[in-house]
Amino acid sequence: MAERPLTLMAVHAHPDDEATSTGGVLARYAAEGVTTVLVTCTDGRCGDGPGGVKPGEAGHDPAAVVAMRQAELEASCATLNVTHLETLGYADSGMMGWPTNDLPGAFWTTPVAEAAARLAELIRQYRPDVIVTYDENGFYGHPDHIQAHRITMAAVELTDVPAKVYWTTVPRTAFAEFGRIMKELGVEWAEPDAASEPGPQLGLPDDEISTWVDTSKYGAQKFDALATHASQTENIFFLQLGQERFTELMGVETFVRVRDRTGAPTPEDDLFAGLR
Ligand SMILES: [Zn+2]
Repeated sequence: MAERPLTLMAVHAHPDDEATSTGGVLARYAAEGVTTVLVTCTDGRCGDGPGGVKPGEAGHDPAAVVAMRQAELEASCATLNVTHLETLGYADSGMMGWPTNDLPGAFWTTPVAEAAARLAELIRQYRPDVIVTYDENGFYGHPDHIQAHRITMAAVELTDVPAKVYWTTVPRTAFAEFGRIMKELGVEWAEPDAASEPGPQLGLPDDEISTWVDTSKYGAQKFDALATHASQTENIFFLQLGQERFTELMGVETFVRVRDRTGAPTPEDDLFAGLR
């Protein structure tokens, strides 16, 4: 049906987000011959430095962190067979309320229209059939994730290119199972608690999730992609599961379809349902 290969674009905030929330679909669709484009908006300078040194601590050199994370990002893309990697190069804003939010070049304080215009250029260049990004809370409230959401939705409006747009999500039912396994493994894990945690409630009830993509065959690739970001200790947290348990637990990636020109019925099990 298609005259050109189908194209998937994932828009993410930091190096490593591509692996955690879309590693499975990037690997799976690449294996199916889909052209995959990853847009990473920030340089990750607020991540951990070598030896786990945190931003603001002595010995945290943002330029060195940026270089290290760029190399990790490229290794992750190679692992996931990403066809094209594009980086917008904004400065990582750090967590909400950090002074880095307001530094020159920080993604969070870059006008949405300005960043959206740059993303729109990439959308016109690659003409993705499907775009994936975060929900309006950036899943868990990180300013750069919220900003990635905002510029993506604005760029979609500017271009009207993608037939389908999705936001990543996690079924709330998965948190309980995840907590049980972490406890079993003796890994410290604070289960998100809607009553006591400030900020947005994480994930969605199952019946609000439109799209469930089986990526279990690509679990090893996703695990390996995550492992390329070894400098970021929060990812090593997931790696403690081991490849087998990780695949078992992370074998399905879930999305909410927010824009659609195909009329494909939901729930669906393929981001490209209605396009092939
Ligand atoms: Zn992130």
